[in-house]
Amino acid sequence: LGGRIAQAMRSMTSKTVIDEEAVDNMLKEISSALLSSDVNVKLVSSLRKNVKNRINLEDLATGLNRRRMIQQAVFEELCEMLNPGKKPYQPKKGKPNVIMFVGLQGSGKTTSCTKYALHYQRKSWKTCLVCSDTFRAGAFDQLKQNATKARIPFYGSYTERDPVKIARDGVEMFKKEGQEIIIVDTSGRHKQEASLFEEMQQIAAAVEPDDIVFVLDSSIGQAAHDQATAFKEAVSVGSVIMTKLDGHAKGGGALSAVAATSSPIVFIGTGEHFDDFETFEVRSFVSRLLGLGDVGGLMNAIKDAGLDKQPELYQKLSQGVFTLRDMYEQFQNVMKMGPIGKVMSMIPGMSALMTKGREHESQERFKKFMTIMDSMTDDELDTENVNKIFTDTRVFRIAQGSGSHPQQVWELIEEFKRFQKMIAKMKHLKIGKNGEMPQM
Ligand code: GDP
Ligand code: MG
Repeated sequence: LGGRIAQAMRSMTSKTVIDEEAVDNMLKEISSALLSSDVNVKLVSSLRKNVKNRINLEDLATGLNRRRMIQQAVFEELCEMLNPGKKPYQPKKGKPNVIMFVGLQGSGKTTSCTKYALHYQRKSWKTCLVCSDTFRAGAFDQLKQNATKARIPFYGSYTERDPVKIARDGVEMFKKEGQEIIIVDTSGRHKQEASLFEEMQQIAAAVEPDDIVFVLDSSIGQAAHDQATAFKEAVSVGSVIMTKLDGHAKGGGALSAVAATSSPIVFIGTGEHFDDFETFEVRSFVSRLLGLGDVGGLMNAIKDAGLDKQPELYQKLSQGVFTLRDMYEQFQNVMKMGPIGKVMSMIPGMSALMTKGREHESQERFKKFMTIMDSMTDDELDTENVNKIFTDTRVFRIAQGSGSHPQQVWELIEEFKRFQKMIAKMKHLKIGKNGEMPQM
């Protein structure tokens, strides 16, 4: 998607006269890219209108930064669309907060419940889980297993078939225990159907939730809008969690869900593990949606890993200077950071290099690369022009020294060149301190 939008922008700058037609054509291109990214049709057309209103053609005709200005307009407009104008429910300390999860079967409710509980538990909230899904066989076992793994108190029953009774009993019990975040997991159905909605309404009436979280599988694409609308009509949805954003889903469904429910997205699920859960940040998300890389998220990851405490490397990166020695240090740092793919996928252009679910392989590859770099001389490690310095003789020497094949050394050099290009791009991103809009 990002590629297509960038392309639309480029086709514009090559034009000498920026007239209404040029802008229209570009917006047409951008719109079709957004449609293919599952953004709802109606939203795309209103986006198109709004962007046009934001752009002042007279300014554009003379301004040097017209490309940036248009991009900014698209960016801001997308952010605007993800803002329902309403803050998500904030749980209050020292009292029970009942949070009910709803969504279709398989959307990721039970998984997200656990992630949600764990998220708050780590912030020292007393959290617990109630399984009121009596529809699906094995539902209680699944929740029990999750809860046990995450060490979260849970409630459920193998014999009771009435989900309303279980929900009521569980919530009551946990309230008496003084729990602060009581999460009620409910059942789903394959389709939106009356029986599901009735059950949801009955449970909601019984436990009087402080917030209802709608869990949406992002891989359903354009169907997101109708599904979100149906749930919102049945119960008072207050927040949204989008799951499976790690797969092929393009994320445009998020805009539909926000528009349909007038509720903010609070978290996104990016994998099956409990840690694959991120607080939703509008600007980071839009950056990713536009293929700009998640600069805000990247900055957070860099901070979490303490990379910002290495002023030298940090400064080099922001200046776009990057040598093999820097790459070596990057590999070291990234390995310290743990789930490598997560950090890498936030870097523009990096997702291509990192295959999700193959982090281990990538780590092995990086280790091999580091061994090869151990056999390099200082001037090789510090050069900014690898094309010039690496001759066949040098490569042969390095290969022998590191016990590898010259082909592997060349592979490393190619990889490095890709890295260098990417870092150069990061320089152009002009990363703001608060994850401000990066430049394409
Ligand atoms: P429920 O029926 O709504 O309770 O959905 P589950 O929580 O049982 O999840 C259904 C499937 O989706 C399970 O295999 C989960 O592991 C998987 N799943 C849930 N969230 C995510 C996610 O963010 N990413 C990926 N890749 N899988 C997920
Ligand atoms: Mg479930």
